[in-house]
Amino acid sequence: MTVNLVTGKCLCGQISVSVPETILKQSKNVGLCYCKNCRQTGGCLASYNLYLPEKDAIIQGEPKIYLDSNTTNGQIIQRAFCENCGSPIYGRNPTSSRLIAVKLGIFDELTKPSIALFCKDRPEWNRLIDGIQDYDIMPS
Ligand SMILES: [Zn+2]
Ligand SMILES: [Zn+2]
Repeated sequence: MTVNLVTGKCLCGQISVSVPETILKQSKNVGLCYCKNCRQTGGCLASYNLYLPEKDAIIQGEPKIYLDSNTTNGQIIQRAFCENCGSPIYGRNPTSSRLIAVKLGIFDELTKPSIALFCKDRPEWNRLIDGIQDYDIMPS
């Protein structure tokens, strides 16, 4: 069986990520994160992530990795971004899961998320999206 891949690119095109279309299209794999670290790293209200097994994400080019140790549980998160244009590419916790959070904003296809994390940090004027599960912090 051939796997249909969809590719997203950073703003300058130097880094690309390819993921299976079947994973990309499923809302259950997509989430928003309103934590302050995500806000700062993206300059945005929330990060918009596709969660998938690392082995399913094909990364081309060499993103720069920032080791973010200022996290709520003290675990270091690798935050990958394009050194040239600054686009966030993915986030990854090297110690716990084998999941990677690919920044979905670099793709053309914008799948509806199914969850929102760290909603305690979401500003009141920003309404939640209908039909998505929101968590104050991170579900354990
Ligand atoms: Zn770039
Ligand atoms: Zn976050």
